[in-house]
Amino acid sequence: MAGYPEQYPRTGFLLSLIGGILITVVSLLVVALVYALASELSALGYGGAATALVVAELMVGAVLGILIIYGAYQVRSRPASARIWGIGIIVLALVSIFVSSGGFYIGALLALIGGFLAYRWRPPAPSPTGWSPAPGAPPTWSPPPPSGPTPPLAGAAGKFCPYCGASNPAPARFCARCGAGFPG
Ligand SMILES: [Zn+2]
Repeated sequence: MAGYPEQYPRTGFLLSLIGGILITVVSLLVVALVYALASELSALGYGGAATALVVAELMVGAVLGILIIYGAYQVRSRPASARIWGIGIIVLALVSIFVSSGGFYIGALLALIGGFLAYRWRPPAPSPTGWSPAPGAPPTWSPPPPSGPTPPLAGAAGKFCPYCGASNPAPARFCARCGAGFPG
């Protein structure tokens, strides 16, 4: 898988791939079943032309399934064209429903969802305002401002009461809490 782009519609690719495989395998299995039961079918009146028509439809269905697988790998290897191939997968899956029951409809349903997801997929924006921060960008987080009352500033601007320890403004002559007079 070396050389494939990093970003691609992963789910769309996987569902389309599984759907295409189911459509192909089921078509080929039913063809094998028709051939295995050829004598029984002809005994029931389903011989010759009728069987040949069913087999032809199933072979077309198998080809449609292979094309869906191819489209899935185009979505995987060239995500820029995922929109086009998504539509292609949807069309192929719809045709396979009418031609060969689309892998018991499950394969066609998976391919339809996968094609739709590939169609809807967009490559991530290359701008630094995208989902990942650019390397070297300043962190957006900053510490919150301190909440609640700011504690009284100690130091040259204030003085501590020698009796109760309360902090008072420097020019105070009496302690605001206990009323003790300050020396000096
Ligand atoms: Zn005091």
